[in-house]
Order: sequence, then structure tokens, then C-alpha cells
Amino acid sequence: MEDMRLALILNAISPAIGGVLVRGEKGTAKSTAVRALTAVLPPVDVVAGCRFSCSPARPDPGCPDGSHPAGSAAQRRPARLVELPVGATEDRLTGSLDLGRALTEGVTTFQPGLLAGAHRGVLYVDEVNLLHDHLVDLLLDAAALGTNYVERDGVSVRHEARFLLVGTMNPEEGELRPQLLDRFGLTVEAAAPRDPASRAEVVRRRIAFDADPVAFAARFAAAEASLAADIAAAQERLPAVVLDDAALERIAGVCAGFDVDGLRADIVIARTAAAHAAWRGGLAVSREDIRVASRLALPHRRRRNPFDAPGLDERQLDEALGGPDEEPEPDPPSGGGPDAGGPDPGDGGRDAGPPDGDGDGARQDAPGTPDSPAGPGTAGRESVAPSGPAFRARRLEVPGKGQGAAGRRSRAATDVGRSVGARPPLPSSRTLDLHLTATLAASAPHQRRRGRSGPGLVLEGGDLREHRREGRESNLVLFAVDASGSMAARRRMEAVKGAVLSLLLDAYQRRDKVGLVCFRGSGAELLLPPTSSVDAAARRLETMPAGGRTPLAAGLAEAHATLRRERLRDPLRRPLLVIVTDGRHTAGGDPAAAAQNLRRDGIAAVVVDCESGPVRLGLAVALAQALGAEYLNLGGLPAGGPQAGAGGPQAGAGGPQAGGRAPRAGDATGLSAQALADSVRGLRADRADRADPVRQPIRAGRPSRTDRKVA
Ligand SMILES: [Zn+2]
Repeated sequence: MEDMRLALILNAISPAIGGVLVRGEKGTAKSTAVRALTAVLPPVDVVAGCRFSCSPARPDPGCPDGSHPAGSAAQRRPARLVELPVGATEDRLTGSLDLGRALTEGVTTFQPGLLAGAHRGVLYVDEVNLLHDHLVDLLLDAAALGTNYVERDGVSVRHEARFLLVGTMNPEEGELRPQLLDRFGLTVEAAAPRDPASRAEVVRRRIAFDADPVAFAARFAAAEASLAADIAAAQERLPAVVLDDAALERIAGVCAGFDVDGLRADIVIARTAAAHAAWRGGLAVSREDIRVASRLALPHRRRRNPFDAPGLDERQLDEALGGPDEEPEPDPPSGGGPDAGGPDPGDGGRDAGPPDGDGDGARQDAPGTPDSPAGPGTAGRESVAPSGPAFRARRLEVPGKGQGAAGRRSRAATDVGRSVGARPPLPSSRTLDLHLTATLAASAPHQRRRGRSGPGLVLEGGDLREHRREGRESNLVLFAVDASGSMAARRRMEAVKGAVLSLLLDAYQRRDKVGLVCFRGSGAELLLPPTSSVDAAARRLETMPAGGRTPLAAGLAEAHATLRRERLRDPLRRPLLVIVTDGRHTAGGDPAAAAQNLRRDGIAAVVVDCESGPVRLGLAVALAQALGAEYLNLGGLPAGGPQAGAGGPQAGAGGPQAGGRAPRAGDATGLSAQALADSVRGLRADRADRADPVRQPIRAGRPSRTDRKVA
């Protein structure tokens, strides 16, 4: 909680830092802290009556409510906290033409949106990871430019929109796009306090508040006023804070040591360190200022993959920071820093990592991985194989058109996305998504009857038409994985886990929920109930043991039961069942009956055939037929065939499989190929030797993998 408070205060002192992302579990009073911060922000002077919060000293020349002549009346108001609801429409965020007035009174007026409201204040997005992509893009544009542009439906407006962006997210509910992550200056982890003293203090305050809210408020008003004064003083001091070359080099050393992309991290650390110096009353940026700033600015900018642990290795940070501020004394420090001459501008931090080798923090070794390969004769015994290499998977899709939450997998009727036609406005529509041509067309036949005489159409309410839009929805991808003895041959299970991992990475990009059922021995088990945490699914997969007989029917039944429960909970989210099997069944009932049940229930399924070797039984084909499912073998999973091979560094961005939406400049739709390659490297605890016959056919299908590995 201290980190969070500090990060918010530093942003209040220097809004150029770019905002705070608060990551943490539910119930950690994140929004309370944000509200408390807004209360201590200095008040703002605005031009009286301007809905866009123009400053009287420097009014926005493009202000839609302008122009404001010099000497316009001004008023002082508290800084505002504007909350962006996760389900907001584009119009609500950016503002829009006031259509009601435009159509009935013939007046063109612009109705300001949330971005205008947040100008010179705080824009707060709770659960920012659940925000629709389309809104994220608008938000990023406005945040980057400090300006909101609206250019549509006959409106052409631009106004200033500079705000402190504060977002919260619960990482268990899914991660954030790298683009959006980078846009936040700082990140902090918020957790409920663990030590008894802090917990007791929280409870004590709560009791004091309940007993006498007025006295409590008075007590804290004094503290609040003093904090507000401290922030104002630090703001005044900030321009005088010196950031000398030594400090800049130290910052560069830290960023190089942590292998961050681009220069944004350097800039954010410099600004944060300067704000911290001002906050503690200093006039020069010290090593400690840089250390604090790095701890807040780096965790989300390290090259990482979605399965890495959050946070920063403090020991690595201290090494990358180099020695103390003053020029080092001639005698070597007792700690024995790698080089006493200051930070190494190269990648010193990484190479000179701690000898015990935990420098990369979050490598996930598969617990219980046997070192000697479990031979094919060990069926019936349990073994845990590591994941084979992951690859960019093709998009598997639920047929038909759904109405689920926005995402990137299957076709859906949505309120954003491509316009596919027009319809009269629904009674539930709060703002009009006007389809102009259809509206005019609807009014045209009635012009004579309505007595049109001059130019200009005579419109009535009944003429209004809205866009009917189609986008993509996210789905529930439930994996049912055969983990029996016939699959347990180590190489084979590696390939299977690699394939499922690839589909999980794909699900992460498409914002799906995922679940994992495994069947082996005497029955099936729901290893992971449906969740948005692809991360959790990858962990379960990594430790999933294999061995024993093959109760295929039980696996299908368990999957079916899981999907039925999910349908009750989330009826609009359409499921896709991915069955990873060789089609064999050696225990339990007849899989044909279970398959029939799934089919009758209309559940879309894909069978991924894992059978390999010279003699094949083709059982999975029969299973796919019984399910009415799409059939693929492992080699058919990678994306795009020959096109995937062309995937250099730009693969993974809006490629052919990106789905539904034209790629925007500088907009990766999810993980980059680099991130994917990193995650592959990170997740593979020990790489099996490459001349493995089982994996050979898969590898043939994706020639680019070797390139990525080198990249
Ligand atoms: Zn104005």
C-alpha cells in the first residue's frame, strides 16, 4: 500500500510520469486510495462555463466552447476524478454530436465525453484489463497526444485532454496488452497488508470511523491538508531539481541491465526520480531516487512473457544501479561490485547475474520433471513431461454468430466493429450509433407528404437507423486432454503440451476464458475450472502428470458437465471444446454415447489427433465424426501454413489470423513474436534433443520456428 501511495503522490507532483497501474487482488482498497489522492490534488482554475476546463491563463485555442477572450471570468474548483466504466461506448468516452438536438432542432452541438471531463484531473479505470480494445485504442491515442480528436458523424472537434491515468486490475482475470502496459508510467502491486501491526491499524481506523465519522474525518482532514501542502511544495521545487549526467548514465545502466525495449523506461525513470527528489526535499537526483523510480517503472517494462512472476529482482536492481553516489573511494567496496567504475552501459546486469542463477526471476521449472526419460514401457506409472516448443496457433472458431463478450475469436453481433447493415434503434440504446444513409433513405419516401418545400430533408424520429455491427467475441475454450499411458511417452506428451500451450497463448491474445480437463487412469478430472487466467492454465498444464488407462468417455462427460455449468453462469459465452487425444479408449464406457450427447447439445468441438508413427488406427477421425467436430492433427495446428513461415519479427502483430479488425499502425494485437519466442524459452525447462522422431512432423509445418529461436 505504501508503494501505491508513493506512486500516486509522485504522479501528482509530476503528471508527465504518465499514471499508475495498480495490480492486485480484490478487496485491497485500491479505489479508496485513488479517491484519497484526488482529494489532495491542488485545485484547478478554469474558465467559468467552459465544459472543457480551459485554463484562464492559457485557454485551449481549439476549445469547442471557445474562444475565450483574455480576462474571461475564472473559477477555482477541486481536481476531478472521472471514472471510465469498463462497458462505456466510444461516444461516452470521446464525446459526440448531440444527435437529438441536431435532428430535431437542427443545431450542431458537441456533447463532451469523459476525456473532456478528466482534463487536468484523474481518469480512473477500474479493471482496465477488461476494457474493450476499441476504447483502449482511443484512450492510448488521447493519453499519448494530450488531445482528443473526434472526427465522425459530421463532427470535427479537437480539445485538450491531459489527465493522470490510473488503472487497476486483478491479474487473475487476465493480462493487459503490452501497448497499454507501457502507457502507464508506473506499476505497483497492491496486496492486503500481511503483517499483524498494519492489519490491526486498518481495523482500528475502521472502528474509529464507525464509532465517530465526524471526529475521524476531522482527524484525517488535518493530515490531508498537510499532505496537500507537501505535494504543492514539491511541485514548486521540481523545476529546480538537477538531473546530472552521472544520474542519467546510472538510469541508462539500469535500463540496459534489465533489457527493456526503447527509451520510454529511461524517460519515465528520470521523471520519477526527479519527482522523488523534490518530494523528499532534495535538489539533486540521487542513487536512492533512481532506485525508487526503477522499482516503480521497470516491472512492467522488462521483456517478459505472460507467465513470468510480477515484480523486480531487487538484487539485480542493486547491481545494475552500480556503486554509491560519490565517486568511489580507491579501496574496493567490501561487497565487491562487478566494476567500480559505475554502471556498465552494456548488458552487465544480466551477464553479471547472481552466481546462484536466479537472475531471471521467474523461470518455471516443471516440478517433478524426471531427468531420465520415462520409457514407453512405463505406461501405468505416472510421469510429468515438460512442454514442448510452442508456436503461433491457427485460430479455431465456433461456427455461427454469437453475442458474447468482445474478443478476437468467433464472429459476433457487437456494438463496435464493422458495420454490416442498418436497423431502427433499439429501445435499450443509450446513444445513437447513427447510420446516416439508411436514415436518409428511410425519410426520403415521405418528404412530399411531410410537406417539404425547400432544401433540407424533413426528418421524423421514426426515420432513425442505427448501424448493425459485427465484430468478434471471446469464447470459452475448454481443453480435454488425454493424459493416459498411451500418450505418456515422454516425447509425445511434450509435443502435446507444446500444442496445448500454443493454443493457450492464442487464447490469451483472443481474450478467451480457458479450462482444462484431463482424463487418465480410472476417470477424468477438471484440473482448472474455466478462468480468464491463461497463466494458471499454463501452470496446470506444465505439472499435469500422465500415465494409466484411457477413460475417453469419462473425459467427454466431465467436459460436458463443465460446459453445462458454465452455460448457466455465463449464457452468452459460447464454448469451444478442444479434445486432444489419439482416439483410443481402454477404460470406462463407450465414448460414442458421450460424443452423441455433446453433439445433441450443440457444442462446437475440435479434435486434435495426437496419433503418430507408422501404423495408425485413425480412431480420432471417428471421434470427430461422432461429435460433428472439426478434425486436425498436431501438424495442422500452427497458423497460416506457408504464410507463417514468412513471419519475421512482425509476425504476431495484425497478421492474417488477427481477426475482424484492420490492424492500426503501431498496434500489436497481442504478444509479439519476440514475446512468444521468449515465453517458449522461458517455459521449456529442459529442451529435448532435436532429432526426436515424434516431433519431426510438427516441426516440418512451421519452418520459422528456428528463426524465432535465434532472434
Ligand atoms: Zn474552453
